[in-house]
Amino acid sequence: MNILVINAGSSSLKYQLIDMDTQSVIAKGLVERIGIAGSNLTHKYGDGQKFELSADIPNHTVAMNFVLEALVDKEHGVISSIDEISAVGHRVLHGGDKFTASTIVDEKVEAAIEACIPLGPLHNPANLMGIRACRAVMPTTPQVAVFDTAFHQTMPPKAYLYGIPMEYYRKHAIRRYGFHGTSHRYVSGRAVKLLGKEHSRIIVCHLGNGSSLSAVVDGKCVDTSMGLTPLEGVLMGTRSGSLDPAVVEYLCTRENKTVGEVLNILNKKSGLLGVSEFSSDMRDVLKGVDEGNEGCKLALDCWQYSIRKYIGAYAAAMGGLDMLVFTAGIGENNPVLRELLTNGLEFLGVKVDKEKNYSARGEKDISADGATVRTWVIPTDEEMAIAQDTLELTRK
Ligand code: ADP
Repeated sequence: MNILVINAGSSSLKYQLIDMDTQSVIAKGLVERIGIAGSNLTHKYGDGQKFELSADIPNHTVAMNFVLEALVDKEHGVISSIDEISAVGHRVLHGGDKFTASTIVDEKVEAAIEACIPLGPLHNPANLMGIRACRAVMPTTPQVAVFDTAFHQTMPPKAYLYGIPMEYYRKHAIRRYGFHGTSHRYVSGRAVKLLGKEHSRIIVCHLGNGSSLSAVVDGKCVDTSMGLTPLEGVLMGTRSGSLDPAVVEYLCTRENKTVGEVLNILNKKSGLLGVSEFSSDMRDVLKGVDEGNEGCKLALDCWQYSIRKYIGAYAAAMGGLDMLVFTAGIGENNPVLRELLTNGLEFLGVKVDKEKNYSARGEKDISADGATVRTWVIPTDEEMAIAQDTLELTRK
């Protein structure tokens, strides 16, 4: 049984076709520059084969048509007909407080995703375009929406409310929602199983270009670092993370900029990039540090400090810690940074074994003997989690 997973952006569309019987990706690809001159599709299949195509791709429906053509193509395809796709799972950024779990897409769900556009103005419209494009080209195939926010809906009010007049929460639903929920759910779910304890307190550090932490008690999210939007929390590749909101007004006045322009700076020009004045990519920043670049040293120091503070805060919020988990691009791949983040956390019971940490590939317990908190690397797989939800909901 094959599930197609779609992640639609405003001018891009990523896809993976997953064979759920073997739990393997049989083809994946990316359409770029939709609606912009120079549109193209990159389709990967088999053991590393690649097929590229440049064409006029004015909208997401045309993009989906190209994707399906690539999937069934006699030469580059992996299936013989569209009927071999059982269902489509869509990544949707913002489900507001309406969605606590993944759901089959119908008219009402579509309207609810549309109603969340003010909360996710960049992503939700694109996610909807992806859903509508799929319906146009495969009208009888069931579609499922998997929300980035859903896993965090178990947070209690004390964690999701901001200290502002309640009127604005009631009128505009201003609160913490959190993101990367599919990853936090998948990884914390694995962590609960691996820990094998009835009662569990887990911190998941999803450290990629965008980064977020979550505190998970007995498998349920009780707090997370991103907020109303993905801007809040730890310092990221290009996002500032949390700061005094008065900075926005101050910058507007001093630099004669609009709020939109300042938010753009905080989202796209800050974080590692802003502080290092060098790069948003952690690998470049580390290279800079090796070469003695002072900006990179400072950026790395701010990055690790902001994450360390959240680890401490969440351990305190949960009244203790059983497992600390690292995932995503940085969390999975870099032992030096895992060492940097865990050094000095012995007071919490976190102690990492150097050899295990440096040799970790895939899922691995990297705790030192005698550590009272287990530290693990657990690779995330958001597409597989989306495909699993899609299969479960459409099989019923
Ligand atoms: P996203 O999905 O948020 O775009 P990823 O989870 O793919 O991001 O992570 C991308 C980030 O991971 C980049 O900053 C990249 O530099 C970093 N990264 C990947 N591999 C390594 C590594 N070996 N060492 C340090 N950083 C890495």
